Amino acid sequence: MVCGSAGAADRSTAIEDVSIVDVLTAAIHAHQTVVIAGDRIVSIGGTAPAGARVINGRGKFLIPGLWDMHVHLWYKENQLPTYIAFGVTGVRDMGSDFERTSAWRAAIERGEAIGPHIVTSGPVVDGAPSDNDKLPVIVARDAPEARRAFDRLWNMNVDFIRVSSALPFDSYTAIAELARHWHVPIEGQIPTNVPALQAIEARQASIEHLEGVTHAASTDAEAIEFFEDCAVHDVSITPTLVLWQRMAHQGDDGLKSDPRLKFVAASIRETWPALGADNDTREVRKRRDAIYRLVSLATRTKVEVLAGTDTGDPYTIPGATLDDELEQLVEAGLTPHQALKSATIEPARFLGWDEKMGTIEKGKVADLVLLGGNPLADFRNTGKVEGVFAQGRYYSRGDLDLILAGEKK
Ligand SMILES: [Zn+2]
Repeated sequence: MVCGSAGAADRSTAIEDVSIVDVLTAAIHAHQTVVIAGDRIVSIGGTAPAGARVINGRGKFLIPGLWDMHVHLWYKENQLPTYIAFGVTGVRDMGSDFERTSAWRAAIERGEAIGPHIVTSGPVVDGAPSDNDKLPVIVARDAPEARRAFDRLWNMNVDFIRVSSALPFDSYTAIAELARHWHVPIEGQIPTNVPALQAIEARQASIEHLEGVTHAASTDAEAIEFFEDCAVHDVSITPTLVLWQRMAHQGDDGLKSDPRLKFVAASIRETWPALGADNDTREVRKRRDAIYRLVSLATRTKVEVLAGTDTGDPYTIPGATLDDELEQLVEAGLTPHQALKSATIEPARFLGWDEKMGTIEKGKVADLVLLGGNPLADFRNTGKVEGVFAQGRYYSRGDLDLILAGEKK
């Protein structure tokens, strides 16, 4: 049976007496009734309609569904329901098998499968073949190859073009030119051979991991100027702080003893490399610290920060790792309010979907997370998920536990 869908279309649901977190202003609107019908929020502040299913929201806080803006849906095992169990109702997939991901997305959209909204790049465009057999790559060693890569991706109808580190300068500029002409966003790392400022001028929509920025901005003033420039050119940043943390902790046991790892299929965990201190941890920690410093400087500017985790990597848990990223963003200097924005309204704006997502408003898609505490007062409350609406379908805590146990798909 399809989870939570029985009768959902013809029966509305009301969350009564709930505190709504306004992610635009950080205000808390207490004692509200939110009514959901079909996949939409149909009223806020009124009363529950007759015959509606009622959910008691007393003492609970309602936030918009969360987005993880950097994941990889690259396992053949379907991890999408797990995202929902942690309140993640949208993901941006930065590289996976396009056909498989599209089939999952279609099943979710038809209401036949549990999962978040998905935007996806399909294969990555890079200058060399993939060293990761899960990540499909289109190789573009020069401008003609880059133009052919663009045509292939255009015909596949991908949501955006994902560029990666080893893409040569000429390939990058050829793709950027076509992408600008045909209005396809380019997103990804700044390739090693592309100066950071050039990527901004090419209107690369998002900069992942911030690695290329450390070269462009060695002083605080340069970094601030760089991020101001990003804001002016509508370039967002996805620091993926948890990725840097994972790399800096390869040598200790914290990663592998995370009890939430049980929510990842054993067949996936078995493919992960054992952890060891074989990479130069001191060097990686220095790089991590440089990225954290950049994020703290970014908060002084208007650049938009997107929460992303690189989930799909070893030792990540779909959805749960986003809670960690939000915590790390606060650690790096974002306010809890800014961190919450980075996973709600900022992703919606980034995708051009803020008319229908990103805040709790009448008429918007009912992607909602019911929390056991105020996330702005204590950020760990984003982990206290008591219920989730994904495109109007409600999952109680009991439903979410069944999803996590693999008994509800
Ligand atoms: Zn990635």
